[in-house]
Amino acid sequence: MKKQNLLPYNYKKMERVFRAKPESFVQKGFTETVHEDGLRSYFKDNGADILAVAHLDSVEGPEHFKVVHLSHRSLLFSPVLDDRLGVYLITDLLPKLGVECDVLLTEGEEVGKSTAEHFETEKKYNWMFQFDRGGYDVVLYQYENDEICTSLIQCGFEIGFGAFSDISYLGHLGCRGINFGVCYNDYHSLDAWADLTRLSSQLERFIFYYTLNKERHFLYDEGTDGYSTNSHRYSLIDTHQDLPGYLNWIDEVYSYDHYRCARCSVEVNSQLIYDYCGDEAFCMIEERLCENCYFGSENE
Ligand SMILES: [Zn+2]
Ligand SMILES: [Zn+2]
Repeated sequence: MKKQNLLPYNYKKMERVFRAKPESFVQKGFTETVHEDGLRSYFKDNGADILAVAHLDSVEGPEHFKVVHLSHRSLLFSPVLDDRLGVYLITDLLPKLGVECDVLLTEGEEVGKSTAEHFETEKKYNWMFQFDRGGYDVVLYQYENDEICTSLIQCGFEIGFGAFSDISYLGHLGCRGINFGVCYNDYHSLDAWADLTRLSSQLERFIFYYTLNKERHFLYDEGTDGYSTNSHRYSLIDTHQDLPGYLNWIDEVYSYDHYRCARCSVEVNSQLIYDYCGDEAFCMIEERLCENCYFGSENE
């Protein structure tokens, strides 16, 4: 059996987090807030300058929890990976690996009413992040600009498109946010699974990013920066601004005749690309998807 470089996942703890009722986080030192619509949020101030966010609601329930160690990689099966895997990572594993962050846990994300919207704090965070996405790329929503893109690309992350998640609702905090992919698949279904081996290298890369950038403030001004996800990328393509690293990368990945699907990253030629708008009620941006993802797609 080939030796795998797995991070020290604590599967017992992970399963407890996956099955935990939201209110049980109060016992772990979180402050509960019940909002007008009855949905809740939980916050824990760890005295950190970075905010980690995850959502407690999920499309399916925690019917099963199974870890399978194959000869070449380890897989985790659970219908609540989205986003309980994120909850486990930010409340347990990453703090043990030296990542210091305050934690906000939300509800309502899956129905487009994330309670992140109501989160208020006096604190000024350097940046915020979550792990609420399949695959290995990262998405920035409205927080995309040259500075943060460059910082991510320098650490080897590929930047994709996303519709929305909790951090999209947190522009009022005055910092930028990143949603990192956590290597899960079929995440809104009972078949949901994650590749724990790939996740280990993704998290190592995250820790590298955190170490380099934890003291850096990525300023975001909701008033002047607005919601500019796609226009920013397109304007870079159109105007060919002088940004050596970023432009080479963006030419390679996003030029119109050499495109990658925003969801599965497969290369597609321009004839096969669709502009996809998610569920009407939550439609914020367009994504370019391959045929397969377009016709079987769900939005995250
Ligand atoms: Zn999610
Ligand atoms: Zn989801």
